[in-house]
Amino acid sequence: ARIPMVAGNWKMNFDHIEATAFVQKFAWNLKNAHFNFRRCEVALFPSFTSLRSVQVLVQSDKLKIHYGAQAISVTSQGAFTGDVSADMLAALGCSYVIVGHSERRKYHPEDDADIVDQVRAALADGMQPILCVGESFEERRQGIELDFAVGQVRDVTRDLSDEEASRLIVAYEPVWAIGTGMVATPQSAQDAAHAIREDLKATFNDQVAQTVRILYGGSVTSKNAVELIGQEDVDGFLIGGAALHVDELTTICKQV
Ligand code: 13P
Repeated sequence: ARIPMVAGNWKMNFDHIEATAFVQKFAWNLKNAHFNFRRCEVALFPSFTSLRSVQVLVQSDKLKIHYGAQAISVTSQGAFTGDVSADMLAALGCSYVIVGHSERRKYHPEDDADIVDQVRAALADGMQPILCVGESFEERRQGIELDFAVGQVRDVTRDLSDEEASRLIVAYEPVWAIGTGMVATPQSAQDAAHAIREDLKATFNDQVAQTVRILYGGSVTSKNAVELIGQEDVDGFLIGGAALHVDELTTICKQV
C-alpha cells in the first residue's frame, strides 16, 4: 500500500530564521501528538536559502521530517548564474524536488522539455520529483480537464523507464484552485487522480501505477482534508497557504 504524504510548499515565504522556528514548533507538535511517521510521510519545501538551516536542524535533532527543494536546474554545473544543481540539493539532504509547478510554468517559464530534464536530474541524484500538473479554469470550462492533466503527465514521463517512473510522485493541482480558496470537490480530485493512475498503468505497468503517489493540491485546509484523503486514489497533499501555519499543518497531518 502507498504511504500517504503531506507536503508543505512554502513558496517564496520564510527566511532561514523563520524556517528554523517553524520546523522546531512543527516537530514539537508532531511529537506531542505521538505522530506516526511510518503511517504518513511529512515533507517541507523551504526556499533554497533555508535548506541548509533545515538540514542542520533535522540532523541534529534526528527529526523524521523530510524536505526538498522547490526548483532544480537542468544542468549539473557551470556558467548558469542563479541556478542550483541536483548535486547541490542532494548534498543538502533533499529527498524531493518539486518540478513543473504552475507558478514556475507561468513566471519563468518552463516548458515540458525543461521539466523532463529536471525530472531526470532529480532522479539521477536519488531524489524523488514531485511532478505538478493540473488544468486552468478554461480547460475545466471546456470539460477537458482530465485529458489535460493526463496529457501533462504523459508529456513528461513518456521517455522514462519503468524504474524511473516508479520513483515519481504526481501532484494534481488544478490552477484555479491554487491560492483561491476554491478547493476541488473530493470527487473531482479522485477522478483526476484515478485518470492519471490509469494512464500510468497503460504507459508503464500496474506496478508503477500502484506505486506512484498522487497528491492533491489547491486550497487544502483542515476543513477539507478529511474528505479529500478519503478518496481511493488521493495519496496526500501538496499544500501552500495552509502550510505556512504550523498548527494548521499539524492538524492536517493528524487527519491523514
Ligand atoms: P494553496 O494550498 O495555497 O492553494 O497552494 C497550493 C500549491 O500550489 C502547492 O504547491
